[in-house]
Amino acid sequence: MEPVWLKKVICKACSAEFLTPRIRSSTLKVKSIDSDFKKNYDCPINPLLYTVTSCPFCNYSARNEEFDKQELDYHPEIIKLASAIKEAKKNIVFPQEKEITTKQAEQKHILAITFYKQYKPPNLNTISGLYMHLAWIFRDEKNIEKEQEYLEKTLEYYIQTYEKGNFIPESIGEPGIMYLIGEINRRLVNYSDAVQWFSKALKHNEIKSYPNIEHMIRDSWEKINEEKKKNEIK
Ligand SMILES: [Zn+2]
Repeated sequence: MEPVWLKKVICKACSAEFLTPRIRSSTLKVKSIDSDFKKNYDCPINPLLYTVTSCPFCNYSARNEEFDKQELDYHPEIIKLASAIKEAKKNIVFPQEKEITTKQAEQKHILAITFYKQYKPPNLNTISGLYMHLAWIFRDEKNIEKEQEYLEKTLEYYIQTYEKGNFIPESIGEPGIMYLIGEINRRLVNYSDAVQWFSKALKHNEIKSYPNIEHMIRDSWEKINEEKKKNEIK
């Protein structure tokens, strides 16, 4: 079965009807998972490019599931931004086709982030996740500069997520957010910051409820030690 199909959706912000490409999740097989939870698929196209829906008329954008389900009746701030874009004719006219370029996927993600930042209060974890997606998209493209640029944004928003303490996803808990902050720091070669976050996470009173996270922290910390040793030998 072809992995991409065109879904007819209605924009909750401007009521326009349009077609948007979606992935059939049944066609995806996870091949491996990176240390920052990026899933790698056995798939000729990159599913990451298809995770956000953008209205081509008002550019209201959200993660697919939320685009389909999230009602905007109580969010005048979202409607206001969408109408402003539409009225000023500043909208990016995304093609209603199955193909999507990296550039378009990047634009859709940036638009979604802009809209998610409008919510009061914004879900910082969602914003972090979208920046993380962008970093992953460019990891797949082997564009290290762009990957790092977006990892830095991800880091900034995960730190805010941790500090604000709401919107912590249950599946990974606070220790998981701390691990991610440490792990992104490691990928950005900020080793001392990474180690600080790892050690803080290992002392967290909920760490024993997340054995998988504990394991990943020890793994990642070990990688830093190995890297440091290698540099000493040189
Ligand atoms: Zn719209």
